[in-house]
Amino acid sequence: MEFDLKKFNEKRKLIKNVKSGKVEVAGWVYNTRALGKIKFLLLKDISGLIQITAVKGKVKDEIFEMLDKISSESVVYVKGSVKSSKQAPGGREIVPDEIKIISKADALPIDVSDFSKTELPKRLDFRFLDLHRRKIQAIFKIKSTMMQAFREFMVNEGGIEVQLPSIISSSSEGGTELFEVKYFNKKAFLSQSCQLYKQMLACSMEKVFAIFSVWRAEKHNTTRHLNESRQFDFEMAFADEFVVMDVLARCVQYIVKKVLEKNKQELNLLGVKLKIPKVKYMTFEQVAKLMKQNGVKMDKDDLSIEAEKKLGELFPDTIVFVHDWPLSSKPFYIMPKGEKLSRGFDAIYQGVEISSGGQRIHIPELLEKRLKAKGLKPKDFKSYIDSFRYGAPPHAGWGMGVERLLMQMLNLPNIREAVLFPRDRDRLVP
Ligand code: ATP
Ligand code: MG
Repeated sequence: MEFDLKKFNEKRKLIKNVKSGKVEVAGWVYNTRALGKIKFLLLKDISGLIQITAVKGKVKDEIFEMLDKISSESVVYVKGSVKSSKQAPGGREIVPDEIKIISKADALPIDVSDFSKTELPKRLDFRFLDLHRRKIQAIFKIKSTMMQAFREFMVNEGGIEVQLPSIISSSSEGGTELFEVKYFNKKAFLSQSCQLYKQMLACSMEKVFAIFSVWRAEKHNTTRHLNESRQFDFEMAFADEFVVMDVLARCVQYIVKKVLEKNKQELNLLGVKLKIPKVKYMTFEQVAKLMKQNGVKMDKDDLSIEAEKKLGELFPDTIVFVHDWPLSSKPFYIMPKGEKLSRGFDAIYQGVEISSGGQRIHIPELLEKRLKAKGLKPKDFKSYIDSFRYGAPPHAGWGMGVERLLMQMLNLPNIREAVLFPRDRDRLVP
């Protein structure tokens, strides 16, 4: 089918900008209806939805004939005149002079209407088609705002954006949940965190941030874990955990503010009532006491899933910072605070952990001691430890899961909803 793209792009109007006069639009067929002498086609593009209305005798016969026979999600071009109409969505409709089918859609394997009941796994099998849905597009329009807002906030804070390697020689945290890659004749791994690198950078560039992909070969199948996810990472020199918790709080508040400003329509479509979160600070001990009062089980030196959930119920629309965390359950690089506690923290938002962070150890001897205490070998971390031997200031930072934050902001039931093409244990395509 011949279609002059150059000419079309000179004339094209996005549907949201269609107001009056003669227009040329293109998009996907949402649905069609025939009511005797009048036929409707709902057309959508990324910006909106408009009704194409054909009355028998008032439009060319061939257009009237074809209008309700175009399959859903086919791509069509429409040229016509705009009329105001009380019944039509957006109060206007197009009376077509010309319609061209640019790409005919086959019978659809999943329901992509606004009222779709197709289950998530099936939707993900056909994610490219699932993304025709306005609600799904809304999630990723909001995610786009988030990514930009994070960068804006960090630049305003005086941060320097950095790029860090994704192929690493050994585990950054001593865990075993790594994907192995063949690196010439050596064994290497996909990064599960950029922790060690951003620390090295805080010791030279002072205030750095990154949007970083991480891979974790966790075998569990939960609604809050992915095998490939993205993180907002931040690290800063001359800071303790309280300085960076404050940065994190303002960062999330900034992101939410930008989403509220830019994505009103998308939030409405999703039925989400988003609020700029408040901030609350609690010690781990205070949380443990509170959970005891509420009859919620805690892990000995960690928050349980139930405890996170309870914090969300007790403090809605609040970022709850849990600090003075037991040393035993924080990674080796977290600065101790006395014998038993640490300068590590978690941030809980709407009942789920969105971030972990803390002040790091910048003293090589202390790092060696902590590695040994965790059953790790200092020699496996030699280049990392050595990086703190030539002038290392105290520093602190955090990593925040991008999809976790999005899931919590939009109250999504599954973290896979917050990724275009999620990778989990059973999913490698599309
Ligand atoms: P959790 O205890 O919830 O499994 P974690 O403590 O193992 O998370 P961190 O190493 O602290 O995770 O990672 C920093 C942040 O990255 C977390 O607070 C979370 O927001 C996000 N995150 C961690 N693991 C995943 C994952 N598998 N999928 C998606 N996001 C994750
Ligand atoms: Mg954590």
